Amino acid sequence: MFLTITTTGVPERPATDLGFLLHKHPDRAQTFSTSHGTAHVLYPEADVERCTAALLLEVDAVALVRRSKSKGRGGAPDAALAQYVNDRPYAASSLLAVALSAVFSSALRGVCRARPERAAEPLPLRVEVPALPARGGPDLVRALFEPLGWTVTARAVALDEGFPEWGDSRYVRLVLESDTLTLSAALRHLYVLLPVLDDAKHYWVAPDEVDKLLRAGEGWLHQHPEQQLITSRYLARRWSLTREARERLELLRLAETDDSEVEEIDNAVPEETGDETGEETDASDGKAVPLAVQRRDAILAALREAGATRVLDLGCGQGQLVQALLKDVRFTDVVGVDVSMRALTIAARRLKLDRMGERQASRVQLLQGSLSYTDRRLKGYDAAVLSEVIEHLDLPRLPALEYAVFGAAHPRTVLVTTPNVEYNVRWESLPAGHVRHGDHRFEWTRAQFRAWAATVADRHGYAVDFRPVGPDDPEVGPPTQLAVFTLTERTEAKAA
Ligand code: SAH
Repeated sequence: MFLTITTTGVPERPATDLGFLLHKHPDRAQTFSTSHGTAHVLYPEADVERCTAALLLEVDAVALVRRSKSKGRGGAPDAALAQYVNDRPYAASSLLAVALSAVFSSALRGVCRARPERAAEPLPLRVEVPALPARGGPDLVRALFEPLGWTVTARAVALDEGFPEWGDSRYVRLVLESDTLTLSAALRHLYVLLPVLDDAKHYWVAPDEVDKLLRAGEGWLHQHPEQQLITSRYLARRWSLTREARERLELLRLAETDDSEVEEIDNAVPEETGDETGEETDASDGKAVPLAVQRRDAILAALREAGATRVLDLGCGQGQLVQALLKDVRFTDVVGVDVSMRALTIAARRLKLDRMGERQASRVQLLQGSLSYTDRRLKGYDAAVLSEVIEHLDLPRLPALEYAVFGAAHPRTVLVTTPNVEYNVRWESLPAGHVRHGDHRFEWTRAQFRAWAATVADRHGYAVDFRPVGPDDPEVGPPTQLAVFTLTERTEAKAA
């Protein structure tokens, strides 16, 4: 098993810095004993212009077989014969990835005390793996590495060069080249993707594999187009681990997406001046009340009516509603939940959480979480508010939110507000056919919202009624629609 890493340099930035970055001196061949055999690091070439480090792993095949048997994997289809006739010793496979992380652990983490500035910057890299087992062939190899900034040369290795008609083996000769990646990123790509391509992970998949995967995947896996295949193969198709990994990656992805959105709201709308369009409404008494304030008032009124004291603000954004709730002592527990860390940071600042007295602080919590996953922390509250949140989810994710809120958290009262798209013709600044906010994935008519709400209520044992927020236009209805869901007594009794 064999892998080489080459970089090039100039006198001010000699290629031999690779030795510092890998924490392995170019003048010495070094040997390490790893759990599956012996790893050697040596430098076939090392000068100012070009430096190559080679990692060579001698696998102890017998030990490997014993180990996998003792871990209960002896029942694999290749168990009997393949124990002694297997390709493990000479294929670059997941074992190489294990060796990579054992021998180059600091480099993998991007730590280099001698040359910290070089560890942090991209460098020209060429990685060669002469025999890479690749289920999925050269096409999959390209699909995995190209989105990460590698130029990929992947050629299937013939089963036997003397008999081309026998076709290709499952090995690929791989060359990766890039000058946009740090060494740490490059090593972490290999650490994850070599076993993914091998797809025959040899060792027991422990629960902390998810942590390992996410650590190695930091900065790239959450936005990789083949993320599903990568997590599933890496975690040996263990469903619960794969699911956990995907949820955590989804959080990372959403946290990034929604950050830009918060920025937009920050810049576009001076605080407390209106809806996301910046429009103001209801000038009947000469003094405009921003729609956002009217919405908050309608929500507070509905919560008081319902007699709620313990309230979840789901998708709390920058915490305006949480702040309003805290002003009323009847609300004893107020929890703001949002996927965006940035929004929560702004909310914490707005609430002056760090300077709050103990008593007040005990009434409020801000939690990061995604509403499209069930969350135990959300159980046991009187009411949940989804104010201007559902339209930020892609429609296919909406059933997941529905289940998490109405099915799993299952509070007695749920309030949902969303724009009424029919009203958009009344916004002067809004070009026809446009939604009110760049991040709205959909905006519904009154009929669409009512149909959705009725189905949800029916499915989860709630009754629902609808209230206008803002001026109720005789033709197009109000700018905001509010649905008030209340658990029906029958379901409440059943739960009790
Ligand atoms: N409730 C606030 C903010 C609405 S903006 C108000 O009425 O003003 C929508 C908010 O939903 C944003 O803060 C966004 O980060 C959050 N959000 C979007 N998708 C989410 C998800 N899947 N889970 C949790 N929060 C989400």
